[in-house]
Amino acid sequence: MHRADPAAVSFDMLMLMMDNLTSTFFVNCEVILSRYHVVHRDDDSNVRNAGVGLLDPCAGADSTELSPFQTSCDLSICCHNEQSLPHTMALFDNSERRRREHHEADVVIVGAGVLGCAVAVALGKQGRSVIVVERSLKEPDRIVGELLQPGGVQALEKLGMRECLEEIDAVKVFGYDVIYYGEEVGIRYPENARDVEDEKTRRTDEMRGTKRKRPEGRSFHHGRFIQQLRKKAAATPNVTIFEANATELVRNEYTNQILGVEAIMDEKPTSFFGHLTVIADGYASKFRKQFRPDLPVSRSKFWALELIDADLPMPNHGHVILGEGAPVLLYQIGTHETRALVDIPENTPTASVAAGGVKAHLRNVVIPSLPQQVQPSFTAALEKDRLRSMPNSWLPPTTNKTPGLILLGDAMNMRHPLTGGGMTVAINDAVLLSELLSPERVPSLDNIQLVLKQMSEFHWKRKGLTSVINILAQALYSLFAADDAQLKALQQGCFEYFKLGGNCVDGPVGLLAGIIRNPFVLFYHFFSVALLAMWLYITKGNALLLPLRMLSSVGVFYKACIVLFPYIFSELRT
Ligand SMILES: Cc1cc2nc3c(=O)[nH]c(=O)nc-3n(C[C@H](O)[C@H](O)[C@H](O)COP(=O)(O)OP(=O)(O)OC[C@H]3O[C@@H](n4cnc5c(N)ncnc54)[C@H](O)[C@@H]3O)c2cc1C
Repeated sequence: MHRADPAAVSFDMLMLMMDNLTSTFFVNCEVILSRYHVVHRDDDSNVRNAGVGLLDPCAGADSTELSPFQTSCDLSICCHNEQSLPHTMALFDNSERRRREHHEADVVIVGAGVLGCAVAVALGKQGRSVIVVERSLKEPDRIVGELLQPGGVQALEKLGMRECLEEIDAVKVFGYDVIYYGEEVGIRYPENARDVEDEKTRRTDEMRGTKRKRPEGRSFHHGRFIQQLRKKAAATPNVTIFEANATELVRNEYTNQILGVEAIMDEKPTSFFGHLTVIADGYASKFRKQFRPDLPVSRSKFWALELIDADLPMPNHGHVILGEGAPVLLYQIGTHETRALVDIPENTPTASVAAGGVKAHLRNVVIPSLPQQVQPSFTAALEKDRLRSMPNSWLPPTTNKTPGLILLGDAMNMRHPLTGGGMTVAINDAVLLSELLSPERVPSLDNIQLVLKQMSEFHWKRKGLTSVINILAQALYSLFAADDAQLKALQQGCFEYFKLGGNCVDGPVGLLAGIIRNPFVLFYHFFSVALLAMWLYITKGNALLLPLRMLSSVGVFYKACIVLFPYIFSELRT
């Protein structure tokens, strides 16, 4: 067994001792600050074991953290005198160099998408050293994340990232136009609806009778927005972005703590180390399955086209078209471009291969259901544009319980994109996370127990906004893609509810916009819709059948319950 004289170990000696170990296996050793990492790879360069050690001047080497390595190579290193490591001192204050040369930071974030960039900016501004690992820094060309709700715009402002919405030809969004079998109702984002934190100001404003500016959303090309976010992250102090494909987590097999990630960069394997590893690698997350047994559930796909110079019934509004089939969304994403997203549930007969496939479904079922003025641009896009699709997934949130790891964004929680809530959730999560992990609350991110405690608080605190967006998206989708009589009754009830205006619009749209953050408001409006749907169901048609309809209207209410409650329960999971 090698045991060094505690007072005499120098940096060079330490390196030498580590180098000597290569006869048994390859050792990658870094001495940075008062901390080092040891990665044990097998012959195929796979990580077999990893340890992190602290060269603590008082306590000596952190033997608990180092123990896995000790067992495998029978080495113990103690260092009681930090001055005996003169080489390390020069590296101490140079966190930029630590990130670039040694790939070590306080936080390693996997994925420079919406969540990854927002968290990088938020933590970097707090003085945390941040590494972002992104597999491709090219502008993404995707059909997702193109409409940011006002609640997301507000969160972006809080992070000081508002300018990311500039210079991308973004379009202002004031609300939605809901078209139900050709009949239209405009549902605008509500005046005076404010973030809960602004509740006091809102009340005084209402008492004074002053009206605030209506909140606004923005729609844009996803790739352009992402590039702005990445530019902002790259320009933030303490943040370094690497183009590398994360392949594996580096884990202390004894304590189960996550120490960082393995990645392929410039075709070579490399490692990135941090006290915290944030996994934000999106909907098809490579790492999620290691931490939760359940898989995302997908009942349908969105099929996308880009319409050129479409004549929309209500410019600056998202359009939701409801009819016989599943919903269709239309919203402008640039001066000349409009995104069309057509929901096609699994096993839709009119989209089957025998019926001519998705193109035939779009031509025969969808085009006739669209407002006439949109049909020419949709038909032209169907002929010229490539058809692309994405699964619409549901994945309820979970608490992060693994030391050293945080799963976030679509990797941790997804809802149907009908209400365009994913980015609003991601950016608000970044705001909340940075508040709960601020240096005032968590001075050092290697305080694993404190970080886990804060993550448990995070799980419950985010509910005010995210449970509303998650449940609303799933419940509205069930109504808007109605495939039985009771759901159709609820769908009609919902449309008639919007037609009543006032609070029947302000409440639901405020929830959807991410500016009303109260699950009880959602509960109230959902069951108001259900009662209205029951009433309409009972009173329509022949008076002689009234008693029968009264009886079967209970089925409508029951359906509302089985639509909503499973999603409510899924939010109560720890
Ligand atoms: C059809 C559809 C439409 C949508 N429309 C909207 C909308 O209008 N509004 C809205 O708010 N939300 C919308 N969403 C949801 C929204 O797109 C997501 O919620 C949001 O993009 C999630 O952000 P994220 O950062 O978690 O993941 P992403 O934005 O997907 O980012 C993940 C990043 O990780 C990188 N990555 C992946 N694997 C690795 C790896 N191994 N190593 C390194 N990097 C890696 C990826 O390259 C990517 O940059 C939509 C979703 C779908 C499916």
